[in-house]
Amino acid sequence: MNYINQMTLKFDSLSINEAFARSAVSAFCVGLNPTLDDIIDIKTAVSEAVTNCVVHAYPNKIGSIELWVGLTEDTIHISIKDEGVGIEDLKLAMEPFYTTKQGDERAGMGFTVMESFMDKVDVKNRDSGGLEVFMKKKITKKITKQGIINGC
Ligand code: ATP
Ligand code: MG
Repeated sequence: MNYINQMTLKFDSLSINEAFARSAVSAFCVGLNPTLDDIIDIKTAVSEAVTNCVVHAYPNKIGSIELWVGLTEDTIHISIKDEGVGIEDLKLAMEPFYTTKQGDERAGMGFTVMESFMDKVDVKNRDSGGLEVFMKKKITKKITKQGIINGC
């Protein structure tokens, strides 16, 4: 794939970094001139995926999270990777309301939210350990003040 712009960030699995990750993705995508609705969807999906790394990937320790974003003319591609415990049964984990943290006020809706807000969500266990969540979304270009649709 020929990306017009890419970025990679690596940060600790601290809950404070969830806000950092979603703001960073939002700032990076602004150049494509997406609508506010698209940005909100993308930020929400990133937030769910990063929170999962914080909450589930590293029981009782802090590990690292790698966030990559690649832009094409009209699509935002995002990968979020950890080096944690991974998921034994991916199909089950992605079912709505499935959670392994019932006592922890978790709804089991993170993957469902990602799937409903993004066009595609692929989740796989990494060969080296941990999980990778790959997502993409085609954006609607915002109409500028001049009435010109950017990119057209
Ligand atoms: P919610 O997102 O609604 O707070 P949740 O995190 O439990 O609840 P999902 O985000 O849908 O729900 O995740 C479902 C389950 O998949 C989790 O309960 C957890 O067992 C597992 N899981 C998700 N992400 C990871 C990860 N990065 N590493 C290990 N396990 C994960
Ligand atoms: Mg979750």
